[in-house]
Amino acid sequence: MTIATNLGFPRMGRNRELKRAVEGFWAGTVDETAMLETAAAIRKDNWLLQRRLGLNHIPSNDSSLYDQVLDMTAMVGAIPRRYGHEGGIVSLDTYFAMARGTTADGEQDGVPPMEMKKWFDTNYHYLVPEFERNQTFTMFSTKPIDEFLEAKALGIHTRPVLLGPTTYLMLGKMADEPDGDPLALLENLLPAYEDILKRLTEAGADWVQIDEPVLSIDLDDKQRAALGRGIARLAAAGSKLRLIVATYFGDLRDNMKVALALPVSGLHLDLVRGPGELDSVIAKLPEEMSLSLGVVDGRNVWRTDLAPAIRVVSHTVNALGSERVMVGPSCSLLHTPVDLDNERDLDNEMKSWLAFAKQKVEEVATIVAAVDPARETPTQALAANAKAMKSRLSSARIHRAGVAERLAAITPEMLHRASPFPERRKAQAKVIRLPAFPTTTIGSFPQTAEIRKMRAGHARGEVSDRRYQQFLKNEIASAIKFQEKLGLDVLVHGEPERNDMVEYFAERLEGYVSTANGWVQSYGTRMVKPPIIFGDIHRPKPITVTWTKYAQSLTKRPVKGMLTGPVTMLQWSFVRDDQPRSETCRQLALAVRDEVSDLEKAGTRIIQIDEPAMREGLPLRQEDWPDYLAWAVECFRLASSGVADATQVHTHMCYAAYDEIIEAISDLDADVISMESSRSGMDKLRAFEDHPYANDIGPGVYDIHSPRVASTEEIRERLERSLDVLSREQLWVNPDCGLKTRRWDEIEESLKHMVAAAKSMR
Ligand code: GLN
Ligand code: ZN
Repeated sequence: MTIATNLGFPRMGRNRELKRAVEGFWAGTVDETAMLETAAAIRKDNWLLQRRLGLNHIPSNDSSLYDQVLDMTAMVGAIPRRYGHEGGIVSLDTYFAMARGTTADGEQDGVPPMEMKKWFDTNYHYLVPEFERNQTFTMFSTKPIDEFLEAKALGIHTRPVLLGPTTYLMLGKMADEPDGDPLALLENLLPAYEDILKRLTEAGADWVQIDEPVLSIDLDDKQRAALGRGIARLAAAGSKLRLIVATYFGDLRDNMKVALALPVSGLHLDLVRGPGELDSVIAKLPEEMSLSLGVVDGRNVWRTDLAPAIRVVSHTVNALGSERVMVGPSCSLLHTPVDLDNERDLDNEMKSWLAFAKQKVEEVATIVAAVDPARETPTQALAANAKAMKSRLSSARIHRAGVAERLAAITPEMLHRASPFPERRKAQAKVIRLPAFPTTTIGSFPQTAEIRKMRAGHARGEVSDRRYQQFLKNEIASAIKFQEKLGLDVLVHGEPERNDMVEYFAERLEGYVSTANGWVQSYGTRMVKPPIIFGDIHRPKPITVTWTKYAQSLTKRPVKGMLTGPVTMLQWSFVRDDQPRSETCRQLALAVRDEVSDLEKAGTRIIQIDEPAMREGLPLRQEDWPDYLAWAVECFRLASSGVADATQVHTHMCYAAYDEIIEAISDLDADVISMESSRSGMDKLRAFEDHPYANDIGPGVYDIHSPRVASTEEIRERLERSLDVLSREQLWVNPDCGLKTRRWDEIEESLKHMVAAAKSMR
């Protein structure tokens, strides 16, 4: 019998109940018991749902109060010393202290949280394990066993999920030893895993899923050997258990050999990201191994085209026999929203194209039913699916007349400014009069409670359009006055009209749809609701021109137009899967290009196109980088190159790790770039020693993520340090990022100091 399976289900509940419970617990309004009951109720719902929908292998230990990597840290007892854990089961206080840090309280000093990092190439963030040299590990949490038993009590036999030892260690870092290799701790770590597996066996588990997604990234021989050794030890420990190793987010490539040599009972592959390897895996699969086919996209919101998925599964069943085949999503469904039935505002046609976690589980069950002669053929579901696929292929909502033609008409000239930077700089200096070390900000000003209240009231229809517009105008006017008073050189309108830098534009572009409940976890209790690009992108009318023009009408100083770049729009959305991402990105770039051109026509002399997500779009495998960077850079240039020499294009990126993409950053050919630098004490600017940067640049001189006010001396000192690698002529003075998360009184002080520092440099 072919097995229908899942690798993990979203954990927050249909209506984000867990978010509310956990945040209430932190705030002291929900007690511990109530919070834990909410978590248990969600687990129960998820298990029952997956069983009802027809899954045979249902995951457990995929739930979490904060993060699954943090759960593993508790399980293997890798609690950093600063949390003062003295052994035994990790308390909730300690668990959340690791996640969020603690603030000073009387005698007690505050403790910083663990570092957060992106989970592979997703928008999920995990807490980075911290290890010490020679550290040992002990089982300090029995969560996987507790949840297995909890499900068992409900009559549901689950397949516990554990993050594999090699991936776990590779996600971590050696504290105080930047070059130390956590994999050196593998031997010490394995006993903790062996204990867990032993306990799971005693509890009655048979299959256990071990996630080793590092099989999808570049590994060296040592790392591959560690992975093989680690899994072999686990396999030996639980002789009664059947282990299935899961890899996802990519194909195996040069890791195929080690994957196929693992002494386990099953291997899960991501056939959405890596469809090309199936036949070579089938050919080499050891007798005792089952193959789990990840044919339903766990990273996106589209309905699976069932016919080809069924063909892949049948083909595998023919080759291996139905006993050795499992069917599931490509990865855990953590990265998709919970349930499409929660969307009341989407029309039926749109819904027929979409699938959230629950619908994806249904698809898995449908595929298995279609190939398994013992089950009833799901005729209706298959017919509905075929119809939806056909409408997606031909719908005029998706394929908008004129867009493909415009794309085909992109010429090489459209990707270049008319003149090289030195000439543009001269042309710009004539119309934009700026002192040396010009000062500016990154775009947004504080999003106060009042702004959010007005926006929500307007969205509910309680605040009229007129009143809302007038309110925004007043906000802009006071932002302009504020900046003039401080003596900033290039002003911004402050972005009070934007809820979010992507959503605001998505709501005003055709080809995009927003959901009411399409939340996915970003980190801890933080959820994001990425808009969905379902069709060809078209900008029906100018988006930002009115606000920018209004702001400019209030001042003689130049006001910067403020746009979100095409790569960031793409990266922070759910993206259509019926054409290459590069093509969708080009469509976005043309829309931004139109907006840039309209801003220029309206008299805007400086236009900033933000690309904070450029770097995070990098593929997992280094050999795939050049292709991505080529089209990402091309899209930025397509968006930005349509203006006259005298119009100044800015871009902004808010991360310090630019060394890896520094050449691509140069290739953007923006006249001015602002980027984060202050958190690394400007050290990251060293990257420009080896790769001299010709255009203007504003390394952020103070960290906006902290309420701390930087002094004039500190800022001045950072500027001096920048001059080690950059010239006076190219240096701008600005904060690290937008100011929307700060308070007005905080930014007033900091910006005052920033302006004073720039003046003293002059
Ligand atoms: N212009 C945006 C702002 O200031 C940029 C945000 C970002 O870089 N993430 O808020
Ligand atoms: Zn930023």
